[in-house]
Amino acid sequence: MNKLLEIKNISLTYQTLKSETEAIKNISFDVSKGEFVSIVGPSGSGKTTILSLIAGLIAPSSGEIFIDGKQVKNVSTDVGYMFQRDNLFEWINIYQNVLIGPKINHNKNCLSKIELKSLINKYGLGGFEKAKPTELSGGMRQRVSLIRTLALNPKILLLDEPFSALDSQTRLSVQNNIHSIIKSEHKTAILVTHDISEAISMSNRIIVLTKRPGTIKTIFNLEFNESLTPLERRNDPIFNSYFKSLWDELQ
Ligand code: ADP
Ligand code: MG
Repeated sequence: MNKLLEIKNISLTYQTLKSETEAIKNISFDVSKGEFVSIVGPSGSGKTTILSLIAGLIAPSSGEIFIDGKQVKNVSTDVGYMFQRDNLFEWINIYQNVLIGPKINHNKNCLSKIELKSLINKYGLGGFEKAKPTELSGGMRQRVSLIRTLALNPKILLLDEPFSALDSQTRLSVQNNIHSIIKSEHKTAILVTHDISEAISMSNRIIVLTKRPGTIKTIFNLEFNESLTPLERRNDPIFNSYFKSLWDELQ
């Protein structure tokens, strides 16, 4: 598989007036097209920092990042970001929320209105176009948020603990939905989470970071049958052995 994302030996030290914080150190990894990679690690180990660097929101102190062979030098339109809070605008309806990116960006890669309508229908939001976000469940809101991110047609989706505000029951079904949308739209995704089970149920690969300054402690390749959904993976006998290994790594 070809490398879509290449991270070459990046380090980042945050400078403030009073202090310096070395957040991450000598991080290198590649992500192939269509891959789903999770990053787990203790709080403060630099997970969000790595996503911000990939998105071009901040520049590394040293090292280089390439997307599709092109070095990331400022905010990259190749990248779509999804956060813990869905950040939907409450005062406009679902359709307008989904359309907001293409409206602001005028980027020729954006999905057309017809393509967006078809995503809305395909992912169970048909009939809700005129509803306001408050009328939707947490799971539906996250799907709207994902479709809004997909509207800009990013090459890579960055997901920063997108499920942590949901209750545990909703969370499982939303993981399933979001995973299936990402797979059927053939997107490449990087998920940051502190939930080991979530990482195992969704990823092809899991990168484990050490505590600050974050370095790569180990990388797990998960070998589930391709056709399993995140929920089905949880019932696979190897799920528990992955869980135990990851748990041990994080102690
Ligand atoms: P994580 O997402 O793994 O919890 P972060 O990437 O948010 O970790 O932060 C890594 C470290 O860098 C932490 O010690 C945090 O306090 C520090 N940090 C994050 N953002 C900034 C910033 N803008 N300025 C200074 N320090 C920061
Ligand atoms: Mg974080």
